[in-house]
Amino acid sequence: MTITASCHCGKNTFRVDGDIPAQLTRCTCSFCSKSAPLRAYYTPEQFHVTSPPDGDAVYRWQTKQVAHHFCAECGVYTYSDSPDFQMDGSWDGVTRSMGLNARLIDGFDAAEAPVTVIDGKNLW
Ligand SMILES: [Zn+2]
Repeated sequence: MTITASCHCGKNTFRVDGDIPAQLTRCTCSFCSKSAPLRAYYTPEQFHVTSPPDGDAVYRWQTKQVAHHFCAECGVYTYSDSPDFQMDGSWDGVTRSMGLNARLIDGFDAAEAPVTVIDGKNLW
């Protein structure tokens, strides 16, 4: 299926060629516990930014390996562009993963969806 998503003001829009995962992901690290995205992970090939880049802003912390994107206008967390970390925090050094904030998906209530917790507080 095709998923569409957008931030609150609409400056950032997305299209995903794929399904909403059965489990969304919540991370407990110091940044995610404050910004609170519920992520749906996709391959870079599935994930498309469909808006001009001027509404995008990026935050990186600690190792700088993860680009946390948010809307420069309305401040909503939009997606992460990160190493494809496994649940134990390991990475093959190559594969990337796109973590769309599922709260942005059109016609979908992420707050009611099942969630897997990543132990980011202890992993990084
Ligand atoms: Zn916005």
